Amino acid sequence: SLPLEDDPESERVRVAVKLRPKNAEDLADSDYFDCVELQPELKRLKLRKNNWSSESYRFDEVFTESASQRRIYEVVAKPVVEGLFMGVSQDMRRFYGFTLSETASVLKLLEMILSVLDGCNGTVMAYGQTGTGKTYTLGRLGKGDESERGIMVRAMEDILAGTSTSDSVELYMESIQDLLAPEKINIPIVEDAKTGEVSVTGAEIVKIRNLGHFLQLLQVGEANRHAANTKMNTESSRSHAILMVHIRRSAQEKEDIDVSQQKEIPTDRHGHHVATIRKSKLLLVDLAGSERLDKSGSEGHLLEEAKFINLSLTSLGKCINALAENSPHIPTRDSKLTRLLRDSFGGSARTSLIITIGPSSRHRAETASTIMFGQRAM
Ligand code: ADP
Ligand code: MG
Repeated sequence: SLPLEDDPESERVRVAVKLRPKNAEDLADSDYFDCVELQPELKRLKLRKNNWSSESYRFDEVFTESASQRRIYEVVAKPVVEGLFMGVSQDMRRFYGFTLSETASVLKLLEMILSVLDGCNGTVMAYGQTGTGKTYTLGRLGKGDESERGIMVRAMEDILAGTSTSDSVELYMESIQDLLAPEKINIPIVEDAKTGEVSVTGAEIVKIRNLGHFLQLLQVGEANRHAANTKMNTESSRSHAILMVHIRRSAQEKEDIDVSQQKEIPTDRHGHHVATIRKSKLLLVDLAGSERLDKSGSEGHLLEEAKFINLSLTSLGKCINALAENSPHIPTRDSKLTRLLRDSFGGSARTSLIITIGPSSRHRAETASTIMFGQRAM
């Protein structure tokens, strides 16, 4: 069995690019030309400068405008969701290997048990210019047509199928506001000094009963996001929306542990299994629009806001670059966004980034900068 550090899936950020279909604005634009050409079988994207020259980029996956939501989920997000459920049997095998070693002290052993009980976390993020399909890809409810369901709904569906115990959810924005309890603003991020676990104390945590319940919550969150932005006279494109899913499972659940090994599970002095609860966390992040905000003529409050968005996306970029370069130091301290992500990307966590772009030459500069963000993550 592979120790988690050697899990090839978790080593780096996997980056996919997705092209939005042409919209009415594109069609009405007389100067329009397609500046993006995709070669999905080669996992390549060509960005055209003019009729004579183009640059070519390779990604882990390239989705055309007709790629289904289902396929995008399966390629981009499903490996991350599966990672949440993977750890135990592998960890337990590692654990047994360790107990057999004669040099293992009891303390060491306890430390080991505690660390293996923290499951693999994971993150799926969407990055791109406003209007290119981030929310469509991640947050679409697909109420009229289930085939349109986005990553959040599909992930929850798989999570509910994979666990019989409690799940909980928080939604909030960069500021940080709780989208399930919008009166709660400026929620602090707390980091456990011992475990490094990051949490937002005070944010609403809701136990998910079933998919219908989750769809209702998502809708409430989306409505609150909209209301908050209207009130502040901003747009949703200026905030990040984060869905945090906590998964707690008992290690006695049969899917967690190889039955043949069950009798060897360590017990405490009351005869209870020591390895009882396994925690993991999934973050689904609908990032603020990546467009440069300074050129939109922002003033005063809006300018301040723009600076914060730039700061958080810039520091996210730095962290992702550091991960890509295998740097031992990931600079997560610089923004609230990256502090929140700290325990959910890098290390044994699986991370997928989906960058969304439009086809129009009009937005070529923004598209180029989005593509570069994705390239630097690889
Ligand atoms: P963003 O969240 O990046 O600002 P949205 O997800 O709101 O962008 O998408 C902008 C518009 O494009 C919406 O009207 C959305 O329905 C549409 N759209 C995005 N992706 C697709 C797609 N794959 N198929 C059809 N419409 C799409
Ligand atoms: Mg959006």
